[in-house]
Amino acid sequence: MMRYPLLLHTILERAHRLFPGKEIVSRDFSGMFRYTYGEFYERVCRLANVLQKMGIKRGDRVATLAWNNHRHLELYFAVPCTGAVLHMVNLRLFPEQIAYVLNHAEDRVIFIDQDLIPIVEGIRGQIKTLEHFIIMTDAGNLPESSLKPLDSYESLLRQSSPVYDFPTDLDEWSPAAMCYTTATTGDPKGVMYSHRALYLHSLMSGMVDTFAVSEKDVVMPVVPMFHVNAWGLPYTSTLVGAKQVLPGMRPDPRTLCQLIQAEKVTVTAGVPTIWMECFKLLEDGSYDVSSLNRIISGGAAVPRVFIEAYEKKLGIPVINAYGMTETTPLVLLSRPKSYMKDWPEERVYARRAKQGLYVPGLEIKVVDENGNEVPWDGQTMGELHLRGPWITEEYYREPVLTGEAMRNGWFKTQDIVTIDEEGYVYICDRSRDLIKSGGEWISSVDLENNIMAHPAVAEAAVIAMPHAKWQERPLACVALKEEFRGKVTAEDILQFLRGRVAKWWLPDRVEFIDEVPRTSVGKFNKKALRHKFFSELFN
Ligand code: ADP
Repeated sequence: MMRYPLLLHTILERAHRLFPGKEIVSRDFSGMFRYTYGEFYERVCRLANVLQKMGIKRGDRVATLAWNNHRHLELYFAVPCTGAVLHMVNLRLFPEQIAYVLNHAEDRVIFIDQDLIPIVEGIRGQIKTLEHFIIMTDAGNLPESSLKPLDSYESLLRQSSPVYDFPTDLDEWSPAAMCYTTATTGDPKGVMYSHRALYLHSLMSGMVDTFAVSEKDVVMPVVPMFHVNAWGLPYTSTLVGAKQVLPGMRPDPRTLCQLIQAEKVTVTAGVPTIWMECFKLLEDGSYDVSSLNRIISGGAAVPRVFIEAYEKKLGIPVINAYGMTETTPLVLLSRPKSYMKDWPEERVYARRAKQGLYVPGLEIKVVDENGNEVPWDGQTMGELHLRGPWITEEYYREPVLTGEAMRNGWFKTQDIVTIDEEGYVYICDRSRDLIKSGGEWISSVDLENNIMAHPAVAEAAVIAMPHAKWQERPLACVALKEEFRGKVTAEDILQFLRGRVAKWWLPDRVEFIDEVPRTSVGKFNKKALRHKFFSELFN
């Protein structure tokens, strides 16, 4: 066979040649922007010429601080296809963390969405390597700014040629893109994605038993493009020539529902908190979302009650998927096997609420503290270890952290899981969120799911509190639905849990809060809750 490198540029070329008339829709600052893959291709070529003129060479890092929009999509291709590395910066990190990742990656240029300029202005003094600031707008909207030299994206594109000859001699192992972890502990850690990894991940995620993205789909990634490549969806959608809908700056639930209705979105993807927020609007019947035939939920556990409610009340299947920044990200995905269609509903939902089967191309094992594989019994907990073509083998320029994360060629996820006789993996907890009570483990995720099954509960997060006798005990932070506030007591919640969980799992304390704080990527922020309740303890 030919020694043919797996490069992102072949994904781009095919979309351009076969689907030049298919649409890409983007929610821009001034309204909806629509164009075709043909026009998209021409602008990617112009952008590649801009990068070349700036002296960006192979391997150089180019940063973006941007929402899900068409210019960001153009950067997704122009940067790696010229041989440079696209560094998608998480715009919700603290400013000092943003300065840290820009310096650590040694980015040479940054592309910034217009509303995010103040973030970069605020850290200008701390940034060491940036030589050029490009605002993703036209010349007319270019504001006065302390950032120098400053340019507008549209004027640079206008001045450059629409023809570019993409290199075909790049090494498929060379880096195409990079993201940093969201730093739930310590500094953010960098992960480099090679052309090969992104290419293979795109092929895999299009498969019918995974995300099943096809040319017929209309794909709307709600997961930010700065969060693990929007789970690879921009690449997968371009690979198959699907219509793409990019929801732009801070999309709220109403905007998302409107977009699904107006653009006839067939598949969308994001963290579970988003789907919890959209549910009420959809249940009211205010929007026609009949085009939507699946929702991919990932990044955090999706409570089983939500999977059931979406399916039974709205007729929309929710697919639970699991991955990490370190894994490009797709690793596990929960779809029932064909012979499960005759199983009792209860058993099928129990499987679907798990994170599921490992996707084709990877290897997994679940091991105890000594590195021995645990039995596939759905009971015994162990740590999930991975290897495969889109699993990282190092943190960028962090040999010590890399050493801690790897074991004999396997990546250690730090997620504590069970695996059942059918091979369905269930994420019990991140090792740091597990509650260690009297030498036994309590899964905070299980407790949360059970609390969220209470009809009055909107959200719940469970954290470990230090305990003199038991070492740690669970504290449940519960946000009630508005109409139930003041009417449901802590004892009601505990009563509901009795019989659903073991007696010794019952939280020692139930605290009512207005809402669970969110992390930079919209997951429940247990670190903030720990901080709040721990400081009470020591004051
Ligand atoms: P961060 O590590 O900052 O949260 P990542 O997006 O890389 O950022 O998070 C990966 C982690 O999110 C996993 O290690 C796992 O703990 C959790 N996670 C991801 N998907 C799921 C899921 N479907 N169910 C439960 N937990 C999940």
